[in-house]
Amino acid sequence: MPEAVLQTAAAEMLDWHGCGMGVMEMSHRGKEFSAILAQTFSDLRQLLAIPEHFKILLMQGGGLAENAIVPLNLSNGGGVDFVVTGSWSHKSSQEALRYCDAKIAASNASSQHRHMPPASTWQLREQAHYVHVCSNETIHGVEMQTLPDLAALGCKAPLVIDCSSHIASRPIDWSKVGLAFAGAQKNLGPAGLTLVVVREDLLGQALAICPSAFNFTTVSDNNSMFNTPPTYAIYMAGLVFQWLLQQGGVEAMQTLAIERANLLYNAIDASEMFYNPVAHDCRSRMNIPFFITQEAGGQAATERFLLGAALRGLLQLKGHKSVGGLRASLYNAMPLQGVTRLVAYMQEFERQGGAA
Ligand SMILES: *Cc1c(COP(=O)(O)O)cnc(C)c1O
Repeated sequence: MPEAVLQTAAAEMLDWHGCGMGVMEMSHRGKEFSAILAQTFSDLRQLLAIPEHFKILLMQGGGLAENAIVPLNLSNGGGVDFVVTGSWSHKSSQEALRYCDAKIAASNASSQHRHMPPASTWQLREQAHYVHVCSNETIHGVEMQTLPDLAALGCKAPLVIDCSSHIASRPIDWSKVGLAFAGAQKNLGPAGLTLVVVREDLLGQALAICPSAFNFTTVSDNNSMFNTPPTYAIYMAGLVFQWLLQQGGVEAMQTLAIERANLLYNAIDASEMFYNPVAHDCRSRMNIPFFITQEAGGQAATERFLLGAALRGLLQLKGHKSVGGLRASLYNAMPLQGVTRLVAYMQEFERQGGAA
């Protein structure tokens, strides 16, 4: 979270804009929250340059719930093709099996999720209702530098992207997208809010078993107020959208993301102690997993590195439990100085031969 946003939220906690209540105390149908919601929708549309023929839905359940909600709404119970590039897209394909004929069109599992399978090699089916990709794999640190152009591959199915961990860090080419979803908690705000952006013509085909609160058409027809929305999370995300627009929007975030990522990758690549195993053309700007070589002490040195990092105020650097090692998640709110300090500590740690 950007510190300025937390400061604003703290100042407005007890009394929002002099109305005598905090946001958590408002009726979600009252004029104060209605104003917050309307502003949030319009700021988000501007920030991500979302065309008018896409609906913005503010939902709950996180990214994992969307792994079920999207097939419930778009699959018709038929074929859906998945491109597996890491843990998240793998999870999506497994969950979808409950609702549709999910097939793996391509996978990088044989390279331990370190390379991006070229779109020209994807085995897409004529009858697929949509094609699912995860545009940034948070755990394996693999990112699509451009979205696939399915039409150019001769595929008429809409593209669904799980962009949870890099949304608002680079522009989205909406001409290639049918639906995008993202849990808010990485780049947009606090946990509890899930963003769905869906092309209008894809609405209206949910399976009969789809819960009403998860039916895109119902949510859309009710302006994301079919049931009580996560009002405080929406308010916080709204403050983040305003902050992002003030910073220069997605373009400015992209410039900063490139700068942060280059700084860390250059330090990793120049080091004899640390390494990142991902192919250069698909390295993530947001989530950078890195490891200490066996010769330099492997797991034991990693534990020492983390202890020393915590003493220096460098937190949350432990790698995901499924891959181990270290991971720096450089989301939008991370100042460049956070990376400079991390790099300085890595160099110090290496000079001292792995003694924290
Ligand atoms: C974090 C994340 C999710 C999140 O799932 P939750 O259900 O919100 O915990 C989904 N997809 C990706 C790519 C993620 O990084």
